[in-house]
Amino acid sequence: MNPMRKLFIVLAAIVCTTCQTVAQESALKGKKVLFVYGGWDGHEPKQCHDLLKPWLQEQGAIVYSYDKLDVYTDKEMMGKVDLIIQTWTMGSISGEQERGLLEAVRNGAGIAGWHGGLGDSFRNNTEYQFMVGGQWVAHPGGKVDYDVNIKDKKDPVTKGLKTFHMKSEQYYMHVDPSVKVLATTTFNGGGDAPWIMGVVMPVVWKKYYGKGRVFYSSLCHDANDFGVPEAFEIMKRGIEWAAQSKEN
Ligand SMILES: [Zn+2]
Repeated sequence: MNPMRKLFIVLAAIVCTTCQTVAQESALKGKKVLFVYGGWDGHEPKQCHDLLKPWLQEQGAIVYSYDKLDVYTDKEMMGKVDLIIQTWTMGSISGEQERGLLEAVRNGAGIAGWHGGLGDSFRNNTEYQFMVGGQWVAHPGGKVDYDVNIKDKKDPVTKGLKTFHMKSEQYYMHVDPSVKVLATTTFNGGGDAPWIMGVVMPVVWKKYYGKGRVFYSSLCHDANDFGVPEAFEIMKRGIEWAAQSKEN
């Protein structure tokens, strides 16, 4: 065989093998993930945990599950985790628990969550909301039909995805202008708030809090909503992005 042709085949084989390795290796492999679930039961925190945990483990993550906020005061745990996933709607957090959580993220742990489990927790705690980058305030009309528009088509979290439809709560949020918005939704003025017609609202964003990566999606009111493939895919990719927080 022509030596150049042979070299080409060898190089092509190396490139293909590398591609396969990259494709198979999840950013979650070997990552320590603290999964905290609880709060208002209408958001099905346990069901959502039970849905996501097997996927996290399939990606090679080591998952520590807790249904109590007191784990945030465990300095050893908070110092070692790469990522915190929290689904805890409303409820209250003690000063010590909040300090433990915020300090871990400021020091470089990532945090990821969705809907009210991250964006409507601990309504009295403004520093917590400063970390998340937004706070739920309303979902006019309850469960409504709406579209999610991909705003950032280059970001790895939303790349390749197209506009998709949800029939669920359309979150109206107070949002930190410093977040990087990846997807939005437009309110049609239905329900009980006609004056918000035409408002374009962030749905998915990423940001930093100190050294920590923060990922948020307002989608997925309950476990059933994860059945919308794009909503689930965005959450998976956002979790993978946040899990690499300490690699910076
Ligand atoms: Zn909800």
